[in-house]
Amino acid sequence: MVTTHNLGYPRVGARRELKFALENYWQQKSSSQDLLETATALRQQHWQDQSVLDLVPVGDFSLYDHVLDMSATLGNLPARAQHGDASELDQYFRAARGRSALDQESCCVPAGEMTKWFDTNYHYIVPEFCKDTHFKLNPTRLLDQFAQAQASGSKAKPVIIGPLTYLWLGKAKDGSDPLTLLPQLLNVYAELITALAEAGAQWIQIDEPILTVELDAKWQHAFTTSYHRLNSCKVSLLLATYFGCLKENLHLACELPVAGLHLDAISAQSEVSKVLDWLPAHKILSLGVLDGRNIWKTKLEQTLQWLEPIHKRLGDRLWLACSCSLLHVPFDLDSEETLDGEIKSWLAFAKQKLIELKVLAKALNEGRDSVAQELNENRRALQSRMESPRVHNALMEKAYESISSELGKRKSPYSTRIAAQNSLLNLPPLPTTTIGSFPQTADIRSVRRRYKQGELNASEYKKLIQKEVRYCISQQEELGLDVLVHGEPERNDMVEYFGEQLEGFTFSQFGWVQSYGSRCVKPPIIFGDVSRPKPMTVDWTSYAQSLTKKPVKGMLTGPVTILNWSFVRDDQARSQTCYQIALAIRDEVLDLEKAGVNIIQIDEAALREGLPLRRSEWQSYLDWAIDAFRISANGVKDTTQIHTHMCYSEFNDIIDSIARMDADVITIESSRSDNELFEAFESFEYPNQIGPGVYDIHSPNIPSEASIIDVIRNAAKCIPNERLWINPDCGLKTRKWEDVIPALGHMVNAAKRLRQELALL
Ligand code: GLN
Ligand code: ZN
Repeated sequence: MVTTHNLGYPRVGARRELKFALENYWQQKSSSQDLLETATALRQQHWQDQSVLDLVPVGDFSLYDHVLDMSATLGNLPARAQHGDASELDQYFRAARGRSALDQESCCVPAGEMTKWFDTNYHYIVPEFCKDTHFKLNPTRLLDQFAQAQASGSKAKPVIIGPLTYLWLGKAKDGSDPLTLLPQLLNVYAELITALAEAGAQWIQIDEPILTVELDAKWQHAFTTSYHRLNSCKVSLLLATYFGCLKENLHLACELPVAGLHLDAISAQSEVSKVLDWLPAHKILSLGVLDGRNIWKTKLEQTLQWLEPIHKRLGDRLWLACSCSLLHVPFDLDSEETLDGEIKSWLAFAKQKLIELKVLAKALNEGRDSVAQELNENRRALQSRMESPRVHNALMEKAYESISSELGKRKSPYSTRIAAQNSLLNLPPLPTTTIGSFPQTADIRSVRRRYKQGELNASEYKKLIQKEVRYCISQQEELGLDVLVHGEPERNDMVEYFGEQLEGFTFSQFGWVQSYGSRCVKPPIIFGDVSRPKPMTVDWTSYAQSLTKKPVKGMLTGPVTILNWSFVRDDQARSQTCYQIALAIRDEVLDLEKAGVNIIQIDEAALREGLPLRRSEWQSYLDWAIDAFRISANGVKDTTQIHTHMCYSEFNDIIDSIARMDADVITIESSRSDNELFEAFESFEYPNQIGPGVYDIHSPNIPSEASIIDVIRNAAKCIPNERLWINPDCGLKTRKWEDVIPALGHMVNAAKRLRQELALL
């Protein structure tokens, strides 16, 4: 019999119960017991949802992040989170967010660095090491959850991050080599695995997704030694890889002394035949045959066609799963009430994927006839998607065909443009600005909600949003910022807002996916050719500009980010979909320009996370991604200043592509990553202007003027003053006005003080 299992399940709850429980706890509106009870109930529900499977994951659930959980399990939370008499729970949240529920008033703990989980839009908290790091097992969380799963009657498989992936994802603050910690770390892993085995675990899933990236000989060798060391534990290990091909690591993965190997058969399908040849005969092979990262129905018959001979060969040694954890897809399609019926019939969310998995297993175990009806329905749905006129728009397909490189070229080089822009805009040195959004208060959210539910008509809605825009503009004027924004009160989300107004996109009601901690996003679904029926932002931006003499910056989301944060159709190349979006954004840029908006920011927050995991594939992605940005941005006059914004600081390796975007100004994150950013600009002279984020907006701590001055001085070492902008490192929508006002006040004062110093030089 084929065994079915799952690598991980979404955590936040079908109605985001975990999000609300966390936020209530952080705001001291509920007790830790309330929070933990919600978490327990959610886990119970999720095992119930997965009960169609033979094995369910345990330990994939997390209150904030599973990498941070692993740090806690290994006794490796940063020391700064542990001071005082805070409970374990509060220490954990301090490590994540820089403060716990206890620290509402005073807080000085820097939040853990957050970065993207491989090429997904999930963010994990980076483990911190130094050469003296000492690991110490804290197995309580896993053992408790395992006991809970067993008590609920689930056949449970604990899930942990493997030791090498853990070390790889972390960062040694003192520059030491994390691999030197391996022997000690392995002792703790051995203890953990033994404890789980003693608690009754038969299988443990040990995730080593770094097997899909390029590893040097040292790391490859470390795999061999590690798994020989862990082999002595009396339990079956399922080594799980996902998110790509293993290539030069494939043989190594097949040979490691573990009981089973899981392979992502969506992104590494081409490697399965080799694995069949190389995998020792005693090992099980788990194939991830359903896409754990996208929401399209699986082509069941085609998958079976491929699986049947493999099943013949492997028999009971074949396990079936989704390609990766279902963390990256929404819970349940059935709860969607407003999704168009035809489009809905093309989709599968987490729950539906498990049913598909069951159908595949049954077809293999008992023959296709046993699931004839399910296969029929699946075939009909796929047919309808392939033939639907809603998917294909001849006009847009033609526009795509006629794209030429001319579309992506500015009229003049930067030096000419900047002169024209300076004389038009007349900004002071070290101009101050923000990244676009201002606090999304409960009031604003309720205005949008009431409008959506029909309780407000269009003109009432417009009035209320305009009132908020007026408030944002007046606050910015009072603060003395130089380039203002309208504040984005009309936007629920920087991608959803645009997707809702473009053709070819659709939306779920409850399709939430965790981004970090309690933050969730609801990715749009791109099902067809993209086009822009009418302007999307011009009215709000022009209104804001009408209120002030200072320049107002128009705010758009770039094509690459819209692509990377959506569920993308899988029936054409991603690049083609991206170019279609670029054409739509280009039209918006030109309309803003026509309306008299002289500065336009096109956010590409997600450009970097779209990078393929393997460096050898980077260039081809960057080629089309940067071209798409250029098409969207570069049709403007010389006097129109194009900004772009990115939420990360690791630029060293893509800086020439960033430069090729040819934006007049880039604003970037830098405060959360210890100003690594500036290293990139030391060796590469970025030709245009740069606004390094001068404080971390993800943390509720209010930065002092002195700390901001420090960051700017540091930046000024490698970026000449005349090309330096001053701004926070991201949008302010998650913050409160009472934090934003003093923080921006300090920022503006810091800029003023430095301007005075400059004048003295
Ligand atoms: N303009 C957006 C905002 O300010 C940018 C958000 C982002 O970079 N993630 O919210
Ligand atoms: Zn940002």
